[in-house]
Amino acid sequence: MGAFCDGDFTFSSNYSFVCSQDMRFSKNVHDNVHGSIYLDPLCLKFIDTEQFQRLRELKQLGMAHMVYPGAVHSRFEHSLGVYWLAGEAVHKLKIQQGSELGIDRFDMQTLKLAGLLHDIGHGPFSHLFEREFLPEVLRDQNDGYRSHEQMSVEMVDYIVDEHQIDIDAETVKTVKTVIKRTDVITLFVGALVCATDQEMILASSKYATTKSIREKRFLYDIVANGRNGIDVDKFDYIVRDCRACGLGCNFQFQRLMESMRVLGDEICYRAKDYLTIHKLFATRADLYRTVYTHAKVKAIDLMVVDALVSANNYLQIASHIQDPSEYWKLDDTIIKTIETAPDQELKESRDLILRIRRRDLYQFCNEYAVPKDKLENFKKVTARDIVCSQKNGGATLREEDVVVSNVRIDLTRGKHNPLESIKFFKDYDSDEKFSISDDRISHLLPSSYQDMIVRVYSKKPELVEVISEAFENFQLKTYGIKAQVHATPEKKDGCNASSNSKRVDRMKVVPALYAYTLEISRPLDPRD
Ligand SMILES: [Zn+2]
Repeated sequence: MGAFCDGDFTFSSNYSFVCSQDMRFSKNVHDNVHGSIYLDPLCLKFIDTEQFQRLRELKQLGMAHMVYPGAVHSRFEHSLGVYWLAGEAVHKLKIQQGSELGIDRFDMQTLKLAGLLHDIGHGPFSHLFEREFLPEVLRDQNDGYRSHEQMSVEMVDYIVDEHQIDIDAETVKTVKTVIKRTDVITLFVGALVCATDQEMILASSKYATTKSIREKRFLYDIVANGRNGIDVDKFDYIVRDCRACGLGCNFQFQRLMESMRVLGDEICYRAKDYLTIHKLFATRADLYRTVYTHAKVKAIDLMVVDALVSANNYLQIASHIQDPSEYWKLDDTIIKTIETAPDQELKESRDLILRIRRRDLYQFCNEYAVPKDKLENFKKVTARDIVCSQKNGGATLREEDVVVSNVRIDLTRGKHNPLESIKFFKDYDSDEKFSISDDRISHLLPSSYQDMIVRVYSKKPELVEVISEAFENFQLKTYGIKAQVHATPEKKDGCNASSNSKRVDRMKVVPALYAYTLEISRPLDPRD
């Protein structure tokens, strides 16, 4: 049977609680965000496996370290962080409302394990692998695609079997249920179906097969919250990513952890914490804008996708997802494997990676924010749209030379305000829960909740100008105005043909690869 934390609990100085008996006997690690993280014996059995250690080779932010050099933190430390915060959150509720809510050791253990393993099935390079690479190479294989949440569930079973971990079936089942729920949330948000709370609850209950989930569903909102988006996964990655990138973080999750309270099977927050919660969503949106979808990070992402697609036939990269015993061998080091392999079949892929190393990147041409009144009926812009907007004269554009990236940035609920889904309470003497509208708090809060940014890149540096012109024509044709704010980089920098000529020569060794349009149907959450 799995080991449980037992005995009295105490709070440490960083809001962490630990079982006082475990403090003496538990292993602990020092995390740069949360301080000491105590590892319980059952979780250690999962941590000390090659499958979990693989997370050290998955950078949390994919290729963002090419722009933010400090962003080299891994899913290993994020997973430990979510494990720790899941335990902290549930124990906080146990202290405040334990007898009323019936939180037991089973709940504590399963939630910590779910937090630990929620990203165990993640692919290389953050969400790039599952959202951009797999759809590209599995176009004709309808049933071949797997989300990282699905892979996580399969990986949990594989680890238990492979390492003969002594754990009861009910715990495994519940852990997998929590991880599957994160998939439900992804599907809803991914489709930008702004589900009502009731729809989300119904979808979640599809997986609610255990007694604990039916009766204490609030517990399962702790790791991934489908009702209102506030969960410890975000608490960890927002603070961790800000720190790694050197960005300030004005959001304090500890305040929410301290004051949250369950009313009617739902985690609610103090009315006075309204603006703290707004900061959570605003900080996350800032990270999307300045880090996760940074124009140069996306350029490098596009090149990595092309390199993986090019290498896929020879290395059979995508086939790894069919079997957990193969999948765990796949991580970010695939790039180094390609880069150092002598095989002729990998030349195209290798040349692209070399271009990344030498900073000879796909060139950002320009971008515009879709006008507010056009957001409702916005259709993704494609490479074909740009090519068809070229006026006569100059080089003839081909779709495979152009990449369009449609980047959506929102506050987790598409065009809706996530604060509308959150229930508040006034004080600890009252059991009433209620919604609060923005205008009762402040008139300085946003009146719309999503941005759509259309960006265009050129795979060949010598085509930047002609693609930029076609992009301008597209805007004039579509909106009657040039929606872009900036002049094209080439014009702005005063680059001329001769400065591009060196790049042209280098380009000759890299045949154009695949044309595709990068569609981010929701703000990809590299950290989910
Ligand atoms: Zn995560």
